[in-house]
Amino acid sequence: MSRARGAAAEVIGRLAPSPTGLLHLGHARTFLGAWWSARSRAGQVLMRLEDLDGPRASQRFGDAALRDLEWLGLDWEGTPSVQSAHLERFAAAVERLLAEGKAYPCVCTRGDLRTAQNAPHAGDKEPRYPGTCRGRFATLAEAERTSGRAAGVRLRVPAGELTIDDAVFGAKKYDVAAEVGDFLIARRGGAPAYQLAVVVDDAAGGVTDGVRGADLLPSAARQWHLQAALDLPHPRYAHLALVTDEHGARLAKHADALSLAELRERKVDPRAVVRWAARTLGTPCDELASARELVPHFRLTERAAREETAGRALVESLLSPASG
Ligand code: GLU
Repeated sequence: MSRARGAAAEVIGRLAPSPTGLLHLGHARTFLGAWWSARSRAGQVLMRLEDLDGPRASQRFGDAALRDLEWLGLDWEGTPSVQSAHLERFAAAVERLLAEGKAYPCVCTRGDLRTAQNAPHAGDKEPRYPGTCRGRFATLAEAERTSGRAAGVRLRVPAGELTIDDAVFGAKKYDVAAEVGDFLIARRGGAPAYQLAVVVDDAAGGVTDGVRGADLLPSAARQWHLQAALDLPHPRYAHLALVTDEHGARLAKHADALSLAELRERKVDPRAVVRWAARTLGTPCDELASARELVPHFRLTERAAREETAGRALVESLLSPASG
């Protein structure tokens, strides 16, 4: 803990890795950006492991993520929190939305019920929910009794457009009701969906600034509706463009060749990754520098942060014997 709690920080950012695989260069760039964004405004940084993806999340990946981020020179206030320890908090939010008629039970058995637990990343296909169960059941118990099945819960999304004012992508308009429909906030059996968990935990931590990958920009609109329904403040958002592989595809967690763990094991100087991340986000950096040394120089230029950046050439230069 490097900062006194009493002096309320104006800016509270967060790093929220999902421990479902090894972190790669894309994560390094995004998490450095999130950390610099907070630290350069004397803000706090919270660490939250988003481990709700039952079968895929593991402690091994959580530990590796923390080690990778420490290797990059990042730090955070207090001990990392783990979302699976906050299940009552998520259940209370769902119950409240049900009680207020802002959410409803859903007994549909489609594939989208199974996928709702993960953050929807680029390329994930999501059909619009047609509202089949809207207004169908008075209570969760009734839904389960009459259908003979466990029920999920969906947010009743109000019709109409909203604007997410993103620090990188500018004003983006979304019509969640038309594009996605009433989305899941709890899966059948009660497990909280990603969208709900993020909103509830961001609010619990007093998060003012969410800096994360650009594939989550459409999720900001869903989260906006949830924040409104729960009377929670809307954080500011900055979404950073993704790092791509040599085919222009988003780096995936299974692309182990690009993992930070591997770079770490091969004794790559983390400052080379830091310098690359700084430059590609728009912060001038000629010499090797630590994440902390760059805090006073951090600049996010919209153009740099919006451009997809290829990671492979960097990895090759990091691993070539001449580098250093
Ligand atoms: N845990 C999510 C991910 O790794 C990020 C969620 C967020 O930053 O809102 O994709």
